[in-house]
This record gives sequence, structure tokens and C-alpha cells, in this order.
Amino acid sequence: MDIARVGLLASALVAFAPQDPAKSPAAQLLEQAEAAAAKGQYGRAIALYKQLARDFAQSPEGAIGERRSQKNAFLGWDWLGRTGPSANRVDVVVMGEGFRVDQMSDYDTLAKMVPREFPRTEVFEEYAAYLNFVRAAIVSEDDGVDGSGRDYSTALGAMGSGGIQGQVTVQRDAVHRMLTELPEHDGFAIVLVKNGLLGTGGNGVAAVGGRDPKTLIHEWGHAFANLMDEYSANTGHRVDVRGGPNVSFVEDEKRVPWAHWLAEHVSGIGVHEGANGRAQGAWKPTNNCIMDVGQEFCPVCREAIVLQIHRLVDPIDEATPDAHATVDSAIVLSAKTPLREQKPLTFRVKTLRPKSHPLQATWFVVRDDPGRPTIVPARTPDRLARGPLPRLDGKPRQDGKANGGVDAFVFEQEDYEPGLWRVVVRVQDSTRVRGDRTPWVLKDDAMLLVTERSWWIRIDP
Ligand SMILES: [Zn+2]
Repeated sequence: MDIARVGLLASALVAFAPQDPAKSPAAQLLEQAEAAAAKGQYGRAIALYKQLARDFAQSPEGAIGERRSQKNAFLGWDWLGRTGPSANRVDVVVMGEGFRVDQMSDYDTLAKMVPREFPRTEVFEEYAAYLNFVRAAIVSEDDGVDGSGRDYSTALGAMGSGGIQGQVTVQRDAVHRMLTELPEHDGFAIVLVKNGLLGTGGNGVAAVGGRDPKTLIHEWGHAFANLMDEYSANTGHRVDVRGGPNVSFVEDEKRVPWAHWLAEHVSGIGVHEGANGRAQGAWKPTNNCIMDVGQEFCPVCREAIVLQIHRLVDPIDEATPDAHATVDSAIVLSAKTPLREQKPLTFRVKTLRPKSHPLQATWFVVRDDPGRPTIVPARTPDRLARGPLPRLDGKPRQDGKANGGVDAFVFEQEDYEPGLWRVVVRVQDSTRVRGDRTPWVLKDDAMLLVTERSWWIRIDP
């Protein structure tokens, strides 16, 4: 073959190559290792990570291979249950601690319990569509728990907490380091400890020893919603949570964190002494909560959980069209060629669906000032940062239930004069579940239960 023909062949190959440049061999190897771990083929995953570390030592993938072929390491992850994009869900990440590579299938079996147990608690059943579950595969060299006279080599440093009942605890920074191996997370994890008793929770991490589902939910209450223990028995271990919504160190009805529930005279809620692991000097709202020995969260704890879910999840999952959400990208119409002679202008939102109660979608069309257009707060991962929404003047154009699905609004141009207009949809979660008299959330200062989207339209004369 002469050189000219080789050149021709090469350019023909380039021409037929796929649009995306092919993945590098190191990236392909990493992908294979992660796929093996996702399928539970941990021996194969480790072999591939070792190969990656050896053959591509200088590349970023090689560094990942090096880290993941350690004796205590993150190997990969898979979904245990996915309802939607992680960016708009609470990602409940499950990890195992003290599982050797030959015991990892036990961990996989155990991890499946988590998405089955969550919806047995009413608040997580109602908001099941707002949660994803992730199984992180973490291997340990040993399968013990420190604190019984011996130090074991494990990934997350589990140890007995020194409490009377020997509650298991883990090293939170090790857990948070493992979280960073995932493509996305919210800073929360459930750690299933192979050999451990009871559990501890706080600062985003629920460490669960033993196999009691109630412990799992109780520790998640600490980790996810900063809830404190409502039992009075002194268990001797220190709880990291301080100043949660469900325990008060003053008895005054007006100063307890749940004073708004007392003001509404919600039955069953009072100020009961004995909480936070002490019989006196700490008060709780009820005598029946899973943060004590009850089966469900009390209304005060449930409110905190619903608000925490709404901090991370926007009930509007999608909004279309996705352009025109700023005044500079306004849709431009002309009064001379009215819209009815063209395609109808339709705005849509897709909302998440709580299990048994509808969300309310209310549409407004408000006049905007071209000189000083409304500034819409940016959407932030922590929805608390947005702050309360301003009042909207004028009557809603459309009001209805958006029960998990698409809610649409058609803009009829003839109803509006030339000028700048803003179409606004506000979606609200009443948290009135199954027709309960009292909503699940009584106090929402930051308006977390309300979300909105805007589109701008300019009608030229
Ligand atoms: Zn409670």
C-alpha cells in the first residue's frame, strides 16, 4: 500500500469515527470495574482496579484504581431504588461496614432491606416519590467492631460507643469521604454495621448495628432531620444532636420548639418531661414517637422530616419550555399578528406526587415593569437559601390540583395588552394527608412547601 492510499484510508476512518471521541483505555477500564461492582462481582472489580492502578498509574483513573484496590475501600455503587434525578431527590445512601470481600453478598442482601423498610413509616410512604436509594459497596479488611479490646481494620472505623448498651458508632469523616466517591449525594448515609449493636445517628450519618428496622428509622431521624432522642433512659452514650426540634430544655409552653403545635391545641401534643436520655430537665412533645419507643414519628418530628425533604426536593420536577425563564429571553409576540393565528402558547410543569394528597398548582399572569423587571431568586440545591417568596398581586388565572403529573396553562394573547408580562406558576404542598384536620406542617417560615417557575412574554404594539 502506498503512502497516499494509507492517508486516504486514515481520513476515511476518521470520517466514520463516532462523533464523541472514544473513551480512553483507562476510562474504559474504570467503567468495567464500576460495572462489576454494581453487579456485585466484587472480586472482579478489585482485580480491575488493581490493573488500573498498575497500568495507568499516572492518570486520574489510575489514582482511583489505587484508592479502590486498598484493603478498606469503596468499590462502586448501584441503585436500590430510583424515582428520579439525584439533583432533585433525597439520595438515601446505604453503606456497609465490617464486611469482608467474601461477605459482601450478605451486605447486598441487607442493603435491600432499607428501601423496603422506609415506606413502612408513614412519612416516608407519603413522600416515597421524593427519595432515591443508593447501595454503596464498601469492603473492609476485617469484620469486627473496635472497642472490645482489639482494633480491627475496617473501612469506616466502627466502634462501640462506650455506652451502657454498647451502641455502635462509626467515624463520620470516613463516611463523608466515601460519599465523595459517588457521582451525587446529599451528605446523608446509613451505615449497616456487620457486627454491632443498636445504633447512633447525627451529622448526616445513621450507624445501624443489629437488624431492627425501627433502629434504622430512628437513627435516620437523628441523621437526616437533626431529631433528638425522646426516651428518658440514660443509655450512657453521648448524642451529637443538640437543640433539635423535638426536645426542649425549658418546660415553658411558649418557648418549646413545638410551641406552634401547642398553640393549635393539636391533640396528643404537650410538654412531657423525660427526653434526651434523662428523666428530668428535658421535655418532649408526646409519649409516642419512634425517637422514643413508638412505631411512628410524632407530629413534631414528622413536620421536621417533611420540611427537610422539601429543603432538598423541589416539587416541580420539570418545567417547559425551559427557555424564556428570564426577562432577556422573553417570548416576543406582536399585537399585529395575534397568537391565535399561530400555535397556542402552553406552559407546563411536571410535579412530584405524594402518595395520598394532591399538590396545588396556581397560575398567575402578572404585569412586569420593563425598566425594573422582577428578579426571581435562583434555584439552589438547599432550597432554604431561596427564602420566602413575595406575595403575588391579582387573581390567579388558573387554580387546580396537580396530582403528580403535568399541569398546563395556555396563554391567550387576546386577554393581555401590549407590554411585559410574567407567567408564574406556584405549586404548593398543603401537607394535608388523607384529609387530616391538621396539616403535617404547621410552621413553614421559609415557604419550603411552595415552589414557583416564571416565564416572560413581551407583547409589542
Ligand atoms: Zn418525636
